[in-house]
Amino acid sequence: MTTAWSERFARRTHGMQSSAIREILKVTQQPDVISFAGGLPAPELFPVAEVQAACARVLQERGRQALQYTITEGYPPLRQYIVEKMARYGIPADPDNVLITSGSQQALDLIGKVLVDEGDPVVVEAPTYLGALQAWQPYGPRFIPVPIDNDGMRVDLLEPILKRHRPKLMYALPNFQNPAGTTLSRERRERLVHLASDYGVPLIEDDPYGELRYEGEHLPPLIALDCQKLVAEGKAGSDGLLRGDVIYLSTFSKTLAPGLRLGWIIAPVEVVQKLVQAKQGADLHTSTFAQMVACEVVRGNFLENHVRRIRAFYRQRRDAMLAALEQYCPPGVTWTEPQGGLFLWVRLPEGLDAEVVLRDALAQKVAFVPGRSFYADGSGYNTMRLNFSNAEPDRIVEGVRRLARAIERHLEPVHVAR
Ligand code: PMP
Repeated sequence: MTTAWSERFARRTHGMQSSAIREILKVTQQPDVISFAGGLPAPELFPVAEVQAACARVLQERGRQALQYTITEGYPPLRQYIVEKMARYGIPADPDNVLITSGSQQALDLIGKVLVDEGDPVVVEAPTYLGALQAWQPYGPRFIPVPIDNDGMRVDLLEPILKRHRPKLMYALPNFQNPAGTTLSRERRERLVHLASDYGVPLIEDDPYGELRYEGEHLPPLIALDCQKLVAEGKAGSDGLLRGDVIYLSTFSKTLAPGLRLGWIIAPVEVVQKLVQAKQGADLHTSTFAQMVACEVVRGNFLENHVRRIRAFYRQRRDAMLAALEQYCPPGVTWTEPQGGLFLWVRLPEGLDAEVVLRDALAQKVAFVPGRSFYADGSGYNTMRLNFSNAEPDRIVEGVRRLARAIERHLEPVHVAR
């Protein structure tokens, strides 16, 4: 008799599910589907020629090093580059504060591994990044959702939660949040950093989109505000090393290419050392070759100039989507107006289920992700995430037109029922 594999899997796998997005993405592989579902960058922006030239140079000049194992912390010149890049955003890091990861998705997993015990309360935004929920689920947290509005996380609701639950960590997406596209206001950033330090709760700042701002003023990262606060309070330490309660994550996925699988963590040295131990058990280190190639590509001002092009490109797509929503959506449907990033968030009238609309939209060859997947408690049935980076502007307009028609068809019975 053969044993069912499902009986052999470890308990920690019981909450694991394939992401709804991956399932929907299978449908979007068909070329005639207009997809607002994934979070894919526009491939026409990938710097293919630069990567090709960098690969050749790396192999020719340092081929043996590039194909060898390296240290877990990451390729030192790339860590140095990140230190300099972060300094421009007011983050005073030393190379010892930097860990290169295989995408920031791995950073989330490692953070769960070293910080979350079974039953630990973890504060997340509602909605939040689905990949973080997926990464942490196996470590058995108790998610505590905090609602968001147009200015990001409702930080004003946080203090009673901190008092009552004493969370193990808080997870925040301050810039152009995935999924909602919202940005945390300056006042809320300051309040959040103060609350984290007053209650001694680590704050995970996930910032893959911060550089992709299409309008408005850049706002300081939480980790920069935390460092400023320590300096103002005379607690920064004379060695100049980064201290505090914030762990910052970012990635090259949206500015260079996600296929390189390169992200980074900025954290106090003690945290980096623990994460390094966890990463050793996971994959020893991030690809030496990918790190050396990226380092070669970003040299000089290439990345800054490239990001400028990306901003202009996505801004046009965002504007196309916003204009089409305005033109085609029936009354009662609302959406966020993101100042950057790749997503916006649509709220349907109460009583209308986005999953029902999805079935109809897919029949019209339009895909999106129903909002429910982004809520730790499975709420948000009448919301949906729309991505605007991966379709051309005229396809975006056509996709929104079809989507609006699908919404309208399902709105009728809702009104009749009232
Ligand atoms: N965090 C957020 C908020 C994201 O949106 C993503 C990618 N969609 C990631 C982390 C993971 O990105 P990567 O692993 O490609 O760096």
